Amino acid sequence: MRKKLRDLGLDLPLLPTTTVGSFPKPAYLQEARRLHAAGKIDVRRLRELEEKATREWISAQLELGLDVLVDGEMYRGDMATYFAEHLDGFGISGLVRSYGNRYYRKPVIKGEVRWRGPITVEWWRFAQGLTEKPVKGMITGPYTMMDWSFNEFYPSRRDACLALARALHEEVKALAKAGARIIQIDEPAISARPKELPEFAVEAMRTVTEGVNAYFITHICYGAFEFIYPQMLELPVDNFDLETSNSNLDLVDLFRKYPFTKDISFGLVDVHSHVVEDRRTIEARIRRALEVVRPDQLWVDPDCGLKTRTAEESIGKLRAMVEAVKSVRESI
Ligand SMILES: [Zn+2]
Repeated sequence: MRKKLRDLGLDLPLLPTTTVGSFPKPAYLQEARRLHAAGKIDVRRLRELEEKATREWISAQLELGLDVLVDGEMYRGDMATYFAEHLDGFGISGLVRSYGNRYYRKPVIKGEVRWRGPITVEWWRFAQGLTEKPVKGMITGPYTMMDWSFNEFYPSRRDACLALARALHEEVKALAKAGARIIQIDEPAISARPKELPEFAVEAMRTVTEGVNAYFITHICYGAFEFIYPQMLELPVDNFDLETSNSNLDLVDLFRKYPFTKDISFGLVDVHSHVVEDRRTIEARIRRALEVVRPDQLWVDPDCGLKTRTAEESIGKLRAMVEAVKSVRESI
């Protein structure tokens, strides 16, 4: 896929480094979000602080020397609820618990899902305006939006998912039109029901991406990869961003059996642990990954978003990751 990147005008080094999307929100922003929810500050003031935090995270990423940047999602609460709030057809429930300690206000599909205008484009443009390095466009995918919502309108999960795909296709088109050349579709839930992958999840991803000239990444975590691999390679994207360090790189054995045919972003930093990995640990993980994929297929990033870590832990982990990559690059 190096050719596709070059055709898009992206000249990335070998083993490009990036992050999955979210960074921790600084204390002043958490406080501002609380005050805004309580009606004590207006949306304009909140926005100013979200922009300040975004600027800080862009600077931090530049200083770390990451190759592909993210906006850090300072403006988002939950990744599914955020998009539901900006699409027609959704209501929002009270707090629901899922995946251990994740609480979120679960979206409810109450009518026909429709895109009513750009959701993330302004934020992408703001972040990209702060740097010459590419910033990823970033949306939550149709399968995960469907799986994490109550459906009171569509007759089936398939119908709900494909309707979401049509709406999100508009967002992807708008991102590409604004200039985003790398677009990530987050699908953490895609292995929730493996039989739905061939039944409609692949079709939904095709609906989202079709006809859009961008390099597409899909991020998958909570993965029961053994149930969806190698079938998941049929998802029409260029790069799979997978949570792998958390599972002790079990995927390496799977890829030995069925070779990986696309680009892959290997999650090589554990986002669930406070422990900051040292450079050598990450370097060893990169070398293990290189036993099963070529250097020109491999990107390096953390397992998942870093929003549950502190700023200090996030930066420590990323610094070790960037140093590990440098050292491996020199030896290739
Ligand atoms: Zn994730």
